[in-house]
Amino acid sequence: MTTNDDLSELLAAAMAAQAHAYAPYSRFPVGAALRIAGTGEILSGCNVENVSYGATICAERNAISAAVARTGGAIADALVVVSNATPPVVPCALCLQVLQEFCPPSLVIHLANDGGIKRTVTLGELLPQPFSTFTAPEDRDVPASTPGSESQ
Ligand SMILES: [Zn+2]
Repeated sequence: MTTNDDLSELLAAAMAAQAHAYAPYSRFPVGAALRIAGTGEILSGCNVENVSYGATICAERNAISAAVARTGGAIADALVVVSNATPPVVPCALCLQVLQEFCPPSLVIHLANDGGIKRTVTLGELLPQPFSTFTAPEDRDVPASTPGSESQ
């Protein structure tokens, strides 16, 4: 259940994480805070960029990683993502894919900037058809000579 106090605390955690973002390349600091369902515990993350660019990790994935490290993968029921953008940004596709690994489509995602929460959506709205399973090996149309195939 979400109350205004819960959102204020979640938003404050996301903004505190945003203040620690390491974004010297994009100059686009982002903070994210996840609330664990049931316990209400809040885990946050910020974007951590790298000179290689490809090794950069978004705030949302860092928050998920913190939540997994803390709880073993308990389900979150709310996420706040805060940036300086107007309108606020939505999580990127990589982060949506990682979020769906641990959160139900009903996960409430609040998109915020320094003016507060501006838009609320669900994970299911942003990622209606996530990749969720591998094709069963017997159903694959893989040539026998492909590395990793069962017949050699
Ligand atoms: Zn992302």
